[in-house]
Amino acid sequence: MEFKNETIRDFSMDTERNTLRSVLNSIKKSIPFEVPISVGDTEKFSTNRFVHKNPWSPDLVVSRVSLTTANDLEEAIQISKKYGNQWKHRSQEDRSHLFIKVAEKLVSKKDFIISVCIWETGKHITEAEIEFAEAVDFCRYYADFARDQLLPNSINLLGEDNLYYYQPKGIIGCISPWNFPMAIFTGMCAGPLVTGNIVLAKPAEETSATAYEITKCFWEAGVPKEVFHFLPGFGSEIGEAIVTHPEVSVINFTGSRDVGLSILKKASIVSPGQRMIKKLVCELGGKNAMIVDADADIDVAIQAILSSAFGFQGQKCSALSRLFVHNDCYDKLKERLIAAMDGLLIGSPLDFENRIGPVIHEESFLRLLKLQKENESFLIGKTTLVPNTGFYIPPSLYEPPIFSSMWTSEIFGPLLSMQKISSFAEGIQYANDSDYALTCGVISRNPKHILQAKLEIEAGNLYINRGITGAVVNRQPFGGGKLSGTGAKAGGPDYLHLFVEGKTYTENTMRQGFSRDTLQ
Ligand code: NAD
Repeated sequence: MEFKNETIRDFSMDTERNTLRSVLNSIKKSIPFEVPISVGDTEKFSTNRFVHKNPWSPDLVVSRVSLTTANDLEEAIQISKKYGNQWKHRSQEDRSHLFIKVAEKLVSKKDFIISVCIWETGKHITEAEIEFAEAVDFCRYYADFARDQLLPNSINLLGEDNLYYYQPKGIIGCISPWNFPMAIFTGMCAGPLVTGNIVLAKPAEETSATAYEITKCFWEAGVPKEVFHFLPGFGSEIGEAIVTHPEVSVINFTGSRDVGLSILKKASIVSPGQRMIKKLVCELGGKNAMIVDADADIDVAIQAILSSAFGFQGQKCSALSRLFVHNDCYDKLKERLIAAMDGLLIGSPLDFENRIGPVIHEESFLRLLKLQKENESFLIGKTTLVPNTGFYIPPSLYEPPIFSSMWTSEIFGPLLSMQKISSFAEGIQYANDSDYALTCGVISRNPKHILQAKLEIEAGNLYINRGITGAVVNRQPFGGGKLSGTGAKAGGPDYLHLFVEGKTYTENTMRQGFSRDTLQ
């Protein structure tokens, strides 16, 4: 299998910046994006809509999202049951080929999709570019993997044929978050579809327009609408209806811990008419740590901290939130970090110089303001120049008492806590003392400590001498343990196994004479 990651453009080049800038500006006239419900080949707009506002200019409604009803869901299920077998029985070669075409289709609409995403989320262009590449990678990687690795295995003996092979699980509900609306939405739908399942896609409310543009690429490349339904709406309504529907066999969920755990509970109840045990793939939050060792390269540390804690305003499950720094370099690092934070430019992502944009919506903005106020007395550094309008939260650094809620709850914003450690071992102890185990970082030049970290740190993804976000498909399969999730490891060799079940047949080939049919 020869898999290559999608290339990332260099936006320091004027030509690259200008092309994207013109698309970003030109689509403004299409705002608000009207997002329909799509059930089979019927597309409908409802008067019952969710409205999402632009994060840097909240007076502007950026998308209006039609809300899927229980009847729409039922219709999607019935269509899926009718057409599911045709999709299931298409050859793997054929379905994999379709997903290579989906990747091409996405690439052909790259600037448009990235622009919709930026208008909905306030993401920086480089972050959006990297995320988009991940979406393309998911399509190609899963297509290649399904074709080359999910192969039947036959063991034939004298008088006995055995075959072990994979079958799709059936109807899969894919419920995705807003923070990676291109990559996570694409990967969560492409994996189940390429293996022959039917997908009911429920995108996050805030980023339904981005998800809809991606869904159109799937259909335009040839994925039948009858097996890929687009069902936008509220999690507490249509999301829950998908979770509890007796015909949905797998719930592929990425989102917050509270919602994930509530889904786990609901999915364990067998509804009338349900004929399978529901499987839950559940990728949740993080409270990610970094340990800076006594001998760490401070330049590397500063760069890694800034990108990991404040990239996309800290709104990544992998974002750095707990920083443990050795006594020997604590004061020096703190001083340099505070100075570097003050140099971060905050403002609209339409101005490409800005590194930090707004947070996703008013609810997040108010929640983070409240958290800042509650922890004011522990504040030690903050980016000072902040625009007056828009949902901007300045990157902020705290020294809160160890084990206050700043150290334990997921924040999902650009607020970072730091704490002194007297040894590397103490750093590991603190890093592991969490309900979560998603990402972790170590900045060290001590080979013994690096080995110790590899052996002892509890994290799905451990990064050494670099930032702790931005996992790349195939190179760094992504997902955590403990209460961070079921460890799906998206973009890795185990992911597709979640959506298939192994079957075995055994045939006694020692025939006792001939049947009448063969004699005729
Ligand atoms: P969220 O849990 O609020 O929503 C996620 C999705 O679940 C949305 O589509 C939402 O509509 C839906 N939903 C909400 N309530 C539901 C219910 N009762 N039943 C069914 N569906 C429901 O999360 P969010 O705010 O969109 O995303 C941020 C969270 O996601 C953070 O906690 C972050 O750490 C996590 N996340 C995890 C990963 C990972 O790979 N581990 C990746 C990205 C984000």
